[in-house]
Amino acid sequence: SKKSLKGFFRRNLFVLFTVASVVLGVILGFALRPHNLSMREIKYFSFPGELLMRMLKMLVLPLIVSSLVTGISSLDRRASGKMGVRAVVYYMVTTLIAVFIGIVIVMIIQPGKGSRDSPTVKSGNIESIQATDAFLDLIRNMFPPNLVEACFIQHKTVYKKTVSTRNVTVTLNLTDLLNITDSPLSENLTRVQRTIQVISNQDIILLFTRITKCCFCCDLQETVEETVPVSGSSAGVNALGLVVFSMCFGLVIGNMKEQGHALKEFFDCLNEAIMRLVAIIIWYAPVGILFLIAGKIVEMKDLAEVGGQLGMYTVSVIVGLLVHGLFVLPLLYFLVTRRNPYSFIGGLLQALITALGTSSSSATLPITFRCLEENNHVDKRVTRFVLPVGATINMDGTALYEAVAAIFIAQVNDMDLNFGQILTISITATAASIGAAGIPQAGLVTMVIVLTSVGLPTEDITLIIAVDWFLDRLRTTTNVLGDSLGAGIVEYLSREELQNQDADLRNSVIEE
Ligand code: ASP
Repeated sequence: SKKSLKGFFRRNLFVLFTVASVVLGVILGFALRPHNLSMREIKYFSFPGELLMRMLKMLVLPLIVSSLVTGISSLDRRASGKMGVRAVVYYMVTTLIAVFIGIVIVMIIQPGKGSRDSPTVKSGNIESIQATDAFLDLIRNMFPPNLVEACFIQHKTVYKKTVSTRNVTVTLNLTDLLNITDSPLSENLTRVQRTIQVISNQDIILLFTRITKCCFCCDLQETVEETVPVSGSSAGVNALGLVVFSMCFGLVIGNMKEQGHALKEFFDCLNEAIMRLVAIIIWYAPVGILFLIAGKIVEMKDLAEVGGQLGMYTVSVIVGLLVHGLFVLPLLYFLVTRRNPYSFIGGLLQALITALGTSSSSATLPITFRCLEENNHVDKRVTRFVLPVGATINMDGTALYEAVAAIFIAQVNDMDLNFGQILTISITATAASIGAAGIPQAGLVTMVIVLTSVGLPTEDITLIIAVDWFLDRLRTTTNVLGDSLGAGIVEYLSREELQNQDADLRNSVIEE
């Protein structure tokens, strides 16, 4: 019919515009590179892109809250429970598969083997974070003490280096003892000093005397340098806190039946209004994406620098993301739904390109909603529930990248990882991807959790910073793809509950 033809034309026009904007952005970016623009000029040039980012971010908070509250409150408790379990199982399974793929690929390619290419730049900015404290921050962020503050503040623990002394008991085994008594005094002392840091020479002499008396155990004082959490600070939007709050709020409103009706209507209306704003912004998106991509290409460092180990590392991440995004996730979608995954992905093209342009799954969320509901006709009750949660905690691309990067850094440091350490990396990479916010390069920050968990030097993150802006775009695209296919799978699995609910609704209307 005329209407559906118009719809088809409009949809494809959008996709065409968006694809054209990427191509034009790349061409424009490379054409401007030889002109050596100053940082200020690049900033001016990227301004239309910056505007797109701001517009999308502006919509994210009301969108997350309104969609989750209406999504959950309009499902009955059993349906939302089942849907929630399905979504979480999907998130966990796909994230673990992503990590597994990453590990296999980085083990095969071994990008970090061989002598070290680039020396580590010691950076004072990278804090050394304890894995436990990072986990606690993750949980803390689920319960924001102030909702208004949560709209722009996320809890982050601040660390301080402290030096203190403590008593330690040193036990020497027989070999140590024989070695020490056999060699000259000065050498003995350096050996002892290397084993523990002693405070004064007196202690060393004391130790030595005790050793010659065949004493195996001796008490000494040791200086300890520690990084301890001292206070909380803030960084970015606390989307996780808002998601948890909105889900609970939606559940409560749903249970209030008649009494909660007004609130439900309000959030429903708010959601509808935000989606209409998205429909306007979507016309501007291709322009913004063009300038975001062109600006980044003008700004990036010389590609020649990305050779050797770093180049192979980049290839490993890209191969992993491609395998996961183009084969594993579509296969899973097909196995569950028996539908063509690639035509589903075709409907998502605009969201995927926006993810590529913005490096932020949160900022892409409004477009993801539209693609799923308008192009792929996924039930709104599912998208409203599953998408905001997915954009916040389900990040397959980030998890894969974290695992590859950690193992790459271990290879560069000539550290052979045992099975236990690889398992630790898998678990912490999954946790780090859940903890990462859907904003540009959040994964780079949560990487610290993975590195500290297996004792890798956190300052080695500087080795991979040069290519991170690029990999971030690709992993964000994979994250958005994972969330969207997840919504399709959850909808398929929940079709019975959705149909039952539709039937109940029809019956109650007839009764009235
Ligand atoms: N930029 C990613 C996202 O928004 C997160 C990351 O840094 O991995 O999904």
